[in-house]
Amino acid sequence: MGEKKICKSICRMCGSGCGIEVTVEDNKVVRISGDKDNHINRGRICIKGSSAVTWLNLPERLTKPLKKTADGFVEIPLEQAMDEIAEKMLELQKKYGKQAVAGWKGEGTGFDQNEGLMRRFNTAIGSPNYFSNNTQCNAGRFIAFHLNYGCWPQADFRNTNLAIFWGTNSPAAHSYWTQDLNEGREKGAKSIVVDVKYNEQARIADLFVVIRLVLMQY
Ligand code: SF4
Repeated sequence: MGEKKICKSICRMCGSGCGIEVTVEDNKVVRISGDKDNHINRGRICIKGSSAVTWLNLPERLTKPLKKTADGFVEIPLEQAMDEIAEKMLELQKKYGKQAVAGWKGEGTGFDQNEGLMRRFNTAIGSPNYFSNNTQCNAGRFIAFHLNYGCWPQADFRNTNLAIFWGTNSPAAHSYWTQDLNEGREKGAKSIVVDVKYNEQARIADLFVVIRLVLMQY
């Protein structure tokens, strides 16, 4: 058997930043589990974090550029892919102006690093058109929190009397919330779930309020 080591890290599949232990064997990630020493998730992780090992090692995972041709997709060297993309971008900018090319940073590993790189790239190509998961979702939350509370508050599920979950399923999405809520429930906390479906969160709620979707036809 080859060299085996366990590296402590942080899961960045979502903003919770759970502590994880990554088991590496022969330079290959073979297991991801929760880090019991991490004060946030205390050993718990959700299915997204633990299954990250599956997609990381998927044989079908794209690791090389593929170019669409009349005969289907063909593998091309990275340098060629970069050159062809740059050529097309410059062509578009020449024809329609610099702002015709926009940059998008998705959610994924890195977060802030990705954002910094994308913004630098946008500056380099002379286009202010930058979008990201933040512009679609997180920035609104950030602004609303700061306008209302002056900070980014964290729910204290361990010490609350009543928690309301609106359209969120923490056992599947933010497992440490469930852990904290269960501690709160032991001290008498109640919870209400408002959702369109009876999910795992609803199963442990004191009250489940279902939202009925009505399709209107005009
Ligand atoms: S809640 Fe799940 S996806 Fe988010 S950081 Fe923790 S393990 Fe990763």
